[in-house]
Amino acid sequence: MVSQCNDRLNTTKTALNDEKPLLQIRNVTKKFGEFTAVNNVDLNIHTGELFCLLGGSGCGKSTLLRMLAGFETPTSGQITIDGKDMSGVPPYQRPTNMMFQSYALFPHMSVEKNIAFGLEQDGINKNEIKERTQNILKLVELQDYEKRRPNQLSGGQRQRVALARALVKEPKLLLLDEPLGALDKKLREQTQFELMNIQNKVGVTFVVVTHDQEEAMVLADRIAVMDKGTFIQIGSPTEIYEFPKNRLVANFIGSANILKGRVNENTSKSVKIMTDLGEIELEQFSTLTVGASVYLGIRPEKISISKNASINKQGFTASGVVEDIGYLGNTSRYKVRLDQGILMDVTAQNHLRPKNHAHAFSWGENVSLHWDASNAMLLTS
Ligand code: ATP
Repeated sequence: MVSQCNDRLNTTKTALNDEKPLLQIRNVTKKFGEFTAVNNVDLNIHTGELFCLLGGSGCGKSTLLRMLAGFETPTSGQITIDGKDMSGVPPYQRPTNMMFQSYALFPHMSVEKNIAFGLEQDGINKNEIKERTQNILKLVELQDYEKRRPNQLSGGQRQRVALARALVKEPKLLLLDEPLGALDKKLREQTQFELMNIQNKVGVTFVVVTHDQEEAMVLADRIAVMDKGTFIQIGSPTEIYEFPKNRLVANFIGSANILKGRVNENTSKSVKIMTDLGEIELEQFSTLTVGASVYLGIRPEKISISKNASINKQGFTASGVVEDIGYLGNTSRYKVRLDQGILMDVTAQNHLRPKNHAHAFSWGENVSLHWDASNAMLLTS
């Protein structure tokens, strides 16, 4: 799981603009007949943010994006962009532009013409069109490709033309529906960084729809995790990954070992949870009452695996047997059956090149697992 490193920058961006969000979504609901696709959502997005709507298929993310663009009308609620209520405002009069997954480039036009098309439709004078098109071609590093047609470009280059065409109209808010969905995995990863750099340079606010959690983690300043038309959690990539609210978020973003538990003791400094593995003390404040049912989540990479029991007072140690091994080259995944019967997923870095092509641990081997109690995530549902 890749996490973005510019949280500090993001917090600053958000804090600076907190008083006057660029986009305000208030109690927005969208129904198709009896079916509720988006259910009473609230959100502020700030100028310069790169915001991701993340969720599985059918959770309502594209419907929400289409309402921002003006292609769908909310059943109830209000959308305000730059202080203006958008009800009744058609797509072409909104300070938004949309980039579609299919790119929708004109096949018979050159790259330059594709980019200039929207400006020509708006009746902008020729010199300005030339200047703006050339500037944007430079920004997306396609100045040597301006005479080519879309079918003479690679997938990544086509993606950059679509981005340039959307940005050249200088929208306040750019809406991107699965912008990297048409690219293969390697190109997708490379393009994620390009997209971030371009967004940083132009400072335009981006709202990106994606179902790919790694993509959201790399790109976003903040992420809204959606399920069944509602936001389950909104936060920076680190907040969402390290402090998920519930099992759904913990398992949707990365994976987690989940232990059932009950609050045994709760003080102002720590909370003690009784689990099938014994009592685990978390040094954190919580409003949970004694006796409440909770869950503990432990990420597979936060668990260390060793051949010998390593007792660490602050940590938690359990012993078990390796049941399964998945070798990924840089890391290996182990499924370890603990003495208490619980199956734990563990991810270990392969620091050393093994001798004789052997795995660091083998099937049926007795191992001991250890994790720091502070790495256990308290999940309320
Ligand atoms: P995906 O990633 O698969 O595109 P999504 O999260 O973008 O999913 P939406 O396209 O927003 O999902 O659709 C949300 C729900 O609303 C789905 O169950 C979908 O079938 C339904 N829906 C979307 N548009 C319509 C429509 N025009 N009429 C009826 N139902 C619709």
